[in-house]
Amino acid sequence: MKKRVIINIVALHGALFCCAQAVVAWEHHPLVTEPVVATMPEVAEAPLAEAVPLEAFLLAVEEDLAELLAREEAWARSNLSWYAPRPDALAFEATGNAEDVRDRFFRAIRINPNTKTPLYLAALADEAEGAKRLLDPGEVSNLEDTSWLSAFDFTELSPGELASPVDIVATASNEPDYGMDVGLFTDNGTDFGQVFGFGVQAFGNPALDYGSQAPFHMGFYHEARIVFLFAPFLKESYPEHRIHLFKSLSEFAFRQGCDYWGWRFMGWGLHTMADLSMPYHTTVLPGYSTLRMLWINLLDMLGFSRLKDNAVQLVSNRHMAIETYQGIMLARASRNDEEADPTIAALRQPRQIPPYTDSAPRKALARSSNAMAARLDKAIKRYMPAQFVSDPSVELADRPERSQIVEMIEAAHGARAIATLNCLQAEALSLFAVHGRSYVLAILGNAAR
Ligand SMILES: [Zn+2]
Repeated sequence: MKKRVIINIVALHGALFCCAQAVVAWEHHPLVTEPVVATMPEVAEAPLAEAVPLEAFLLAVEEDLAELLAREEAWARSNLSWYAPRPDALAFEATGNAEDVRDRFFRAIRINPNTKTPLYLAALADEAEGAKRLLDPGEVSNLEDTSWLSAFDFTELSPGELASPVDIVATASNEPDYGMDVGLFTDNGTDFGQVFGFGVQAFGNPALDYGSQAPFHMGFYHEARIVFLFAPFLKESYPEHRIHLFKSLSEFAFRQGCDYWGWRFMGWGLHTMADLSMPYHTTVLPGYSTLRMLWINLLDMLGFSRLKDNAVQLVSNRHMAIETYQGIMLARASRNDEEADPTIAALRQPRQIPPYTDSAPRKALARSSNAMAARLDKAIKRYMPAQFVSDPSVELADRPERSQIVEMIEAAHGARAIATLNCLQAEALSLFAVHGRSYVLAILGNAAR
C-alpha cells in the first residue's frame, strides 16, 4: 500500500516537470543579480579583476585545491543528511597534468564535464558595448537548445583583460542554467551519470535537459510532514550542497589571489540562492493544500488520474507563466533604467542583512519563499489569462503568444493587476536581495581572514 502511494507521488512529481522545458526559476539571473551586487560597495568598489582561464587557475592551486575539496566533501557528508557521497575515485588529486585538469576538477565537484567556461561578459542583447567578438550561445552553454540565450550578448574577454566584479558576478549568475547540472544521475543516459554517485534522479523529468537539473535548483524543505512520510525522495535535493561548494570555492580563489574566479564562483552560488527565492522552486504544488494533494493522489491510486494530471499541468503552466511575466518585466525595467520599478527597487534597497549561516538557504530563504507560494498562486489564477493558467488542456510551452502575457493581463484587468503581480515578484526577489547580500558578505569576510 505504502509502496503504491510512493510510486504514485513519484509519478505525480515526475510528471510535474515533464512540460517544464523552459522553466528555469527566475529568468535572466544577471538582471536579478546585478542590482544586488552593484549597490554593495564591497563589490562595486572592489578593484577590477584580471580574467584568468579556468585551467590556469586550477594548475596554479592544485595542491591546495585538493585539500579544500577534501574538506568540502567531509563537510557535506557530515552536514547534509540526504547527501550522496562523492565516490572516492573522483577525489581531486594534484598531478600537474594540464591536459585533464579541467576534467578532473569538474568530476571532483560533480558538474557536467562538458560545462563551458569561456572568458566573457553577458549583457542584454544589443546592449554590449564596443566592437569585440560576441560568443555564440553554443560557446557558453552545453545545452542542446540555446535559443533562450538570444536575450543576451556574450562579449569575449581575453586572458589578462580587466573586468568589473559586478559584471563578472552578474554574468556568472546565469551559468548554472547553461547545463552544468544536466545529466548527473544514473537515469539521465550519460556516462558520467553512471559514476557520479548521485543515483537515480529523485524528482524532475530525467529525460529532459532542464528536467534533469531540477534537484540541484529546487529544494522542498517545508512541505507537511506527511508528504515527506509518503515521499521521502523529495528531500533528495542539492541546492544547499551547491551553495556551500561554490561559497568555499569562491573564498578559496580570493585567498589564492585569483579574484576573477572568486567573483565567478560567487555568481554560481548566487544563482542557487536566487532559485530558492522563487516560490515554485521551494513548493511541490503551490496553491494545493496537503489534504488536497493526498486526496488527488488517493483518487489516482484508485484509477481516477484526471485530477492528478490536471494539477500537474496547471502547476507547470503557472510556473512558466510567472517566469515569462517576470522575464519580460525585468528586461523592460533594466533596459529603461527604471529604478522606481518595484522589483529593481527591492533588489537595490535591502532591509537588514542578517549574518549568513549555512542553514539560512533552507531555514530562512526557502522557508519565506515557500510561505508565499499560495498567495502568488492565487494572484496568478486571478490575473493571468485563464487559457494560460487555468485550462489543463493547454500546454503553455506550445503557446508562443505567452510573450504577450503582460499586455493580455493589462487589457483584461488593468494597471492594478500589473501592480499586484509586480509587488509579489518584488517580495519574492527581496528575499534574494537580503540573503544574497548576506552570502556575498560572508564570502568576502572569510576570504579576507
Ligand atoms: Zn536555476
